[in-house]
Amino acid sequence: MIERGLYIDGQFVEALDGATLDVLNPHDGSVLASVAEGGEADIDRAVAAAQRAFPAWSGRAAADRGRLLLGLADVLESHAEELARLESLDTGHPLRDTTLLDVPRTVATFRYFGGMADKHEGFLPPVDAGFLNYVTRGPIGVVGQIVPWNFPLMFCGWKLGPALAAGNTVVMKPSELVPLTTLRLCELIEEAGFPPGVVNVVPGYGQRAGARLASHPGVGKISFTGSTATGRAIVAMSAGNLKRLQLELGGKGANIVFGDANLKAAVNGSAFAIFHNQGQACIAGSRLILHEAIADEFLERFLALSKSIRVGDPLAPGTEMGPLTSAQHRDRVLEYVSIALEEGGELLCGGKAPDDATLSQGFYVEPTIVRAQPSARASQEEVFGPFVTVSTFASDDEALSIANSTQYGLGSGLWTNDLSRAHRVARSLRAGMVWINSYKRVSPGSPFGGIGNSGYGREMGFEAMHEYTETKSVWVNVDAQVPAWYPRPD
Ligand code: NAD
Repeated sequence: MIERGLYIDGQFVEALDGATLDVLNPHDGSVLASVAEGGEADIDRAVAAAQRAFPAWSGRAAADRGRLLLGLADVLESHAEELARLESLDTGHPLRDTTLLDVPRTVATFRYFGGMADKHEGFLPPVDAGFLNYVTRGPIGVVGQIVPWNFPLMFCGWKLGPALAAGNTVVMKPSELVPLTTLRLCELIEEAGFPPGVVNVVPGYGQRAGARLASHPGVGKISFTGSTATGRAIVAMSAGNLKRLQLELGGKGANIVFGDANLKAAVNGSAFAIFHNQGQACIAGSRLILHEAIADEFLERFLALSKSIRVGDPLAPGTEMGPLTSAQHRDRVLEYVSIALEEGGELLCGGKAPDDATLSQGFYVEPTIVRAQPSARASQEEVFGPFVTVSTFASDDEALSIANSTQYGLGSGLWTNDLSRAHRVARSLRAGMVWINSYKRVSPGSPFGGIGNSGYGREMGFEAMHEYTETKSVWVNVDAQVPAWYPRPD
């Protein structure tokens, strides 16, 4: 069994109160690891270590921080196979996914922000004659990062990359369910040559470690990814020292298929949109909105594809869908099947654990498709599993009104061959991200985040660098002729 400590000030240590938590293997429910469980006092010492490391880290040349991040990307790449396996073991993501997506995306993100470190510039606003005004962008200080369980390794790249490039030091609290790749990353961060205290990782529960980090007076910013309910709690907890916040919260992605769409591409892309990562993605295309003219044909093909998805052991070759990450979450997803049926929905496929006896101890759910009214709870609330609702529309306006009818505004997609319709609908979708004839594309260069109850702030790209820096406006009187405000004889 794997044993891991908290990573504070460059050392793996036990929790001060000796607490530990068990990490389960979602494939069979067995205990995979015992990890130190950080409490309030552990967060305090991690913040103190990050504060001590801050002056030297932020004082380094930006190119030097970039060089370390680029080096880390190389180290990660050289451990790609091992990291993909560990991520699959811990989260249940199929090895194909972690090998082709999670690990390469993490490497690419660290590399992107490594390159970004010395390219994020200040600026010179044109101001009054005789004055020079320059604006610098400096780090915030100690940043707290609280992350969920759906893409633990990838989120390290998204969050640590820009925070470190900008010169901040970090205390990260990974999800208590899946801390293993984040802790392995700490060893690789050390191997890449980062000084102690620059990155600190404290696994623990939200109510203890998470809440202390969110309310800590020594933390200048919280970057949070997780549920909308926890996001709201974090807003309240951050009020004490008016922390800056970046909130990446829930979603209920609309995926609209118009009558003129390339159906083959739309069927395959829509299956990826919802079933990749077992639907445990904030940007999952969890509401299929089909034009009535193609709905029957689309559904016939979509059902056939969904039923053929190979569900099984994430480490087995050929597996296309693994278990959900926890038993509790599996139960929650299945509860939504009952909720949908109670509200008059029709189950078109799935809705249960697979019949395969070899999977009976794991947290599996079959790809599930439910026909439901757009206003039903199943169509409005985030299920966060391999669960998609289907409804139909007759006009573009109706499609838009259904798409924009939830409290969320994260990612949405549309499939059409009509160029003008594509841009018109994209413009009117209430979402931070829109995919046309595609779904769930992400790249380190493109801003990621939402509006409404999906939160605020953006990951990735220059936007992320802005999120992790404060501007400072400096005024210099070069040769301005400023009349005295209180004229007096000399
Ligand atoms: P969650 O809100 O329960 O937990 C997220 C993190 O917050 C965990 O580390 C948890 O320990 C911590 N936490 C919980 N309660 C806390 C508290 N009171 N104070 C401080 N920290 C606390 O979410 P989850 O179930 O882990 O993740 C699923 C959610 O994350 C979904 O709603 C999903 O949409 C969202 N998500 C959003 C994005 C995005 O970028 N918008 C990406 C991935 C996941």
